[in-house]
Amino acid sequence: MSIATQEQTVVDGVKKQLYIGGEWRDAAGGTLEVEDPATGEAIAEVADASPAEAMQALDAAVEAQSSWRDVPAIERGEILRRAFEKLTERADELALLMTLEMGKPVAESKAEIGYAAEFFRWFSGEATRVHGQYNTGGNGVGRVLTLKQPIGPSIMITPWNFPMAMGTRKIGPAIAAGCTIVMKPASQTPLSMLALAQILEESGLPAGVLNVITSSSSGRTMEPLIRDPRARKLSFTGSTEVGRVLLEQAAEQILKVSMELGGNAPFLVFEDADLDAAVEGALLAKMRNIGEACTAANRFHVAEPVAEEFAKKLADKMGALKVGRGTEEDVKVGPLINQDAIDKVEELVGDAREKGAKVVVGGQAVDGAGYFYEPTVLGDVPPSARLLEEEIFGPVAPVTSFESEEDAIKAANNTQFGLVAYVFTSNFKRAIRVIEGLETGMVGLNQGMVSNAAAPFGGWKWSGIGREGGFEGIEEYLETKYVAVNMD
Ligand code: NAP
Repeated sequence: MSIATQEQTVVDGVKKQLYIGGEWRDAAGGTLEVEDPATGEAIAEVADASPAEAMQALDAAVEAQSSWRDVPAIERGEILRRAFEKLTERADELALLMTLEMGKPVAESKAEIGYAAEFFRWFSGEATRVHGQYNTGGNGVGRVLTLKQPIGPSIMITPWNFPMAMGTRKIGPAIAAGCTIVMKPASQTPLSMLALAQILEESGLPAGVLNVITSSSSGRTMEPLIRDPRARKLSFTGSTEVGRVLLEQAAEQILKVSMELGGNAPFLVFEDADLDAAVEGALLAKMRNIGEACTAANRFHVAEPVAEEFAKKLADKMGALKVGRGTEEDVKVGPLINQDAIDKVEELVGDAREKGAKVVVGGQAVDGAGYFYEPTVLGDVPPSARLLEEEIFGPVAPVTSFESEEDAIKAANNTQFGLVAYVFTSNFKRAIRVIEGLETGMVGLNQGMVSNAAAPFGGWKWSGIGREGGFEGIEEYLETKYVAVNMD
């Protein structure tokens, strides 16, 4: 099969309708175009839901809730386990699909399918490990029983940068806990989520448990659902700006919320670090997902004596990465998601250069079709540069230097964001001191990646509320009930 035919086949294989109450339906209002960011050309049209159709999805989730919560946990877990197997079997075709709508190299898309599937494997086990407690009251008389129950219909909104994993990280625990779902993926990358819904359907998920709405007007479509008294939970992954709007809306019904928001990760390299290992870690922390990750290292704070050498070594590695369409062999850097993303990166790099930063490698957008930007390292970045404060979301690594451990911690915390930090040092006591001083939900110690289905992913400050994955992940979909038992 030629590459173009193979691409067409995977796109054709996805149902592009709304998935409501176990049925695939067209939207009355028409369709929404999905574009390949490597070419700027349309690759598919998916249903464009109206607010009324989104409300039908919530109706279906509400209707399915009471029977779904009574399905034994072991059966809910088995559905997730089957979906894990299917995701794994179909990883190649799903990876190609993801690359076509999102842009990242196929190898990275495949890694995301693996990561996404792991949430289903993890939560298939967690479904049977929802525990209560029994204890004696402090006065020695009464008994205290606690039980955990599914919170109920859950609204989920996900971003385009990890089109499948950001979904399974929410859907996995919700299914395990016994909650029903209305899911709205990003309008740029709906195909991966629609493919996932098909897989869950084939894995035996009952009608109405998962409902998927695709829409070109997210705000108008989702707000009535968030304000509906039948909804119980809102789980959002996306920008802090939109998260803030949704928190206000969620306040009306006092929804339990999970917010996985923006990042501005500091990457700290101490003089005692293994510099080559730090450069490898930096490459991963910066370039995974073309720099379009909430966990992307946004700024590199390097001990003054090794800062120049670090920047040079990182520039050598970044400059050697092949930029191009993610479906082509050996390509390591795909396109950014759209022209707005290119404009933002250009603006931030321009600002840093005007303020005195030096371009060590890269520094501009690539001419031609698609939204490509050269892997870029900037040295001597002054503290006033905007890219030290704002999420770059592109392949740009600003390097600055620090004089002392105290200064490094201060610089790292000099932001309202607090998702993740990376620390490279060979001194164990220093590592502990620095980790304890950092205001972030996660730390990569001598490694450039933290994502792991078994770990509690989440941020402090403007980076969010709640945790996804790990033992904590399922708690987001459970309510605690305490029973006071009279023993008189
Ligand atoms: P975004 O603009 O906030 O969009 C995220 C999702 O929200 C999309 O589905 C979007 O739909 C929807 N949306 C936008 N406005 C809305 C509204 N008024 N009401 C309801 N839904 C609305 O973010 P993005 O550009 O897709 O993603 C990038 C951001 O996500 C970055 O800041 C990144 O750091 C963050 N992120 C965080 C994590 C984490 O775990 N902390 C993980 C990944 C990404 P449309 O597509 O239709 O606009």
